[in-house]
Amino acid sequence: MILSNAMIFRGMEGFAKGSLEISGGRIRRIVLEASGREPSDGSMCIEPPGRGISDGSMCIEAPDRESSDGSMCIEKPDKGPSNGSMCIEAPDLEDWPGRPHTEEPRNPELTSDDDRIDVGGAYVIPGLIDIHTHGNSGYDFSDGDADGLAAMGRYLAAHGVTSFAPASMTLPYECLEKAFRTAAEYARNRSKNGARLAGIHMEGPFFSEGKKGAQNSAYLRNPDSDAFFRLQEAAGGLIRIVDVAPELEGAEAFIRAVSPVCRVSVAHTQATYEETIRAFEAGACHVTHLFNAMPGLHHRAPGVVGAAADREHVTVELICDGQHIHPSVARMTFRVFPGRVCLISDSLRCCGMADGEYELGGQRVFLQDGRARLADGTLAGAARNLYDGMINAIRWGIPAPEAILAATLTPARAAGIEAQAGSLEEGKWADFLILDREWNLKEVYLDGCRIET
Ligand SMILES: [Zn+2]
Repeated sequence: MILSNAMIFRGMEGFAKGSLEISGGRIRRIVLEASGREPSDGSMCIEPPGRGISDGSMCIEAPDRESSDGSMCIEKPDKGPSNGSMCIEAPDLEDWPGRPHTEEPRNPELTSDDDRIDVGGAYVIPGLIDIHTHGNSGYDFSDGDADGLAAMGRYLAAHGVTSFAPASMTLPYECLEKAFRTAAEYARNRSKNGARLAGIHMEGPFFSEGKKGAQNSAYLRNPDSDAFFRLQEAAGGLIRIVDVAPELEGAEAFIRAVSPVCRVSVAHTQATYEETIRAFEAGACHVTHLFNAMPGLHHRAPGVVGAAADREHVTVELICDGQHIHPSVARMTFRVFPGRVCLISDSLRCCGMADGEYELGGQRVFLQDGRARLADGTLAGAARNLYDGMINAIRWGIPAPEAILAATLTPARAAGIEAQAGSLEEGKWADFLILDREWNLKEVYLDGCRIET
């Protein structure tokens, strides 16, 4: 199969016009049209990486353009991507959804016998990778229910997330073990319409009582590497991220024991700057939902946020559902942590469901108007998927290539699957998305096969 007339995502460079050749579930060849290069955001190519938001005026104008839900609408929706100066004319997508049809090859290097799909100048980006999602569609990973996990995987794939690391809650070890065995089975027998398992994110139970958030305090534990290795065995080695609060007794020894085999993440913590730096020096290299479930950044007490900023090998998760952090903080985070933000959903079982009452780790959660809260009002997690979060980030003024990288290659690296996923490169899995020029998801391909969205 050959996808032609595509605007192919090329990382920080933006997009380039060309064709993708797919076979055997892999990307076999990418041919770019030398004259057809169109950056997604004109300013992106001018500024060096790390300078953050490319159109400074977007930030300056922010206060009076804030919308009622707290999210900042940078552009009118009909203007598409964040920088109005983009050199992209509105494509003719009248005949969308561009069903496969035969056409004369435009590039003589490509064979004419293959199925060709002219995508009409639409964007092609890598499938998204969510390394922190608890549930959706009424199901939670921690239920340990194989059918539920399969349904979660189908929902994610249909919404553009082609790889995921389900996150567990703070629960008794036997519940975690059941969930992890279920994940290992899913990885072995995934249906073709279900997102790939990129590993497991073990979010509890090594957390601080004072910052437990929506984790159930009845099951909190001090860090215990023996317990971790028992669970890792049950998981078939699939735990790729394990969370810990650095101030707990035994945390440093835990990090030293576990970090050689699993990414250790600082989370649900009251750690000081110094305690967090010690955790990073012991081997931790990730922060779970930066800003949430930890003290805020204070000029004399920079805490986890300051420590993570000072250690450039550390990746940080960010929830851009419009509830967990303010758009201004999202913009600041992308500037302070260039190339090391992982957008996550932190979605709960109520994601993709109607308002109502749900369960989370043995506690009741109430979903109303997109907000999922415990009975006492504590924010419990998110009701939006990662695709929505990435689009929010773009609409808040994060340059599109940075937002896309934060939902693809950066989390692929955090989960250790970057050799096969996270970017459009020859030899990698053919997991990709087709979007129109207004960032609407049109088609999802997993293993090179189109799946129902
Ligand atoms: Zn979570």
